[in-house]
Amino acid sequence: MNESKVQSAIALEGVSFSYGENEVLSNVTFAVAPGEFVGIIGPNGSGKSTLLRIMAGILRPSSGVVTMAGRPMQNLSRRDIARSVAVVPQETTFVFPFTALEVVLMGRSPHLGRFGIEGEDDLEVARQAMQATDTWFLRDRTMEEVSGGEKQRVIVARALAQKPEILLLDEPTNALDIRHQVDIYQLLQRLHDESGLTIVLISHDLNLSARACERLILLHRGRIKCDGGPDEVITSALLSEVYETELEVHTDPATGAPIITTPIDRAVSKKSQLFGAKERQRKIP
Ligand code: ADP
Ligand code: MG
Repeated sequence: MNESKVQSAIALEGVSFSYGENEVLSNVTFAVAPGEFVGIIGPNGSGKSTLLRIMAGILRPSSGVVTMAGRPMQNLSRRDIARSVAVVPQETTFVFPFTALEVVLMGRSPHLGRFGIEGEDDLEVARQAMQATDTWFLRDRTMEEVSGGEKQRVIVARALAQKPEILLLDEPTNALDIRHQVDIYQLLQRLHDESGLTIVLISHDLNLSARACERLILLHRGRIKCDGGPDEVITSALLSEVYETELEVHTDPATGAPIITTPIDRAVSKKSQLFGAKERQRKIP
């Protein structure tokens, strides 16, 4: 085993995955170093969620190897994996009206003893996770009594209560308005900066990802199209090709981060000019 593998928090080598006959990941290879904050971007259906499920040990690759801290994932039990990797899924539904604190305490389950009873220590870990996500005040409310943004922060708290080395998130800000999206990104950045947590974030928000993540992996049809710093990945040529629409990349004068825009105004104004021209033509007797 080479040294770089041992040093990676998680590494995929030649990973392919098929649902039945349909290969949705092809020969994916990358390694995430401990403490890295990596964004995974790519159009719908490019294989992002499948890739995350493989990294979480929920799915096994059809071929290739996944290692966690140098250990092949296939040799690890679910419980071993859950002690190191926490997942914030795209959507979470609860069939029972659990309180926020009960939900966060669920994150402790991989660490509990044989009888599965939480002790004072678990409660303390849950409290810290809820304070870090600003959800402690919600502890006695049921998940039906919190807003979308609060719910998502509770789910992040549950993941943190797991005390993972790696946090995987699948479009955690999808259902949120812009303020709550920014809140989640700031929270992730803070966790990354302060606790050195390794974070892999799937997101549709190219602008926020380009600002928050130090590295982006662009997936296209199940393959890695580009893997590098935001400046390397967020280019008009690459994104326009992969997203199959004209995209422009500018530099934010305030932060120096790339900003992606769609020249939709121009498309619309062209259309209205055309429409106007037709109208005018019609009016000509
Ligand atoms: P993304 O998250 O990038 O949108 P997914 O990993 O969800 O992509 O999906 C990749 C491809 O795999 C898509 O073509 C999707 O239709 C297919 N797919 C996803 N989940 C399943 C499943 N459970 N069974 C069969 N096909 C699936
Ligand atoms: Mg997805």
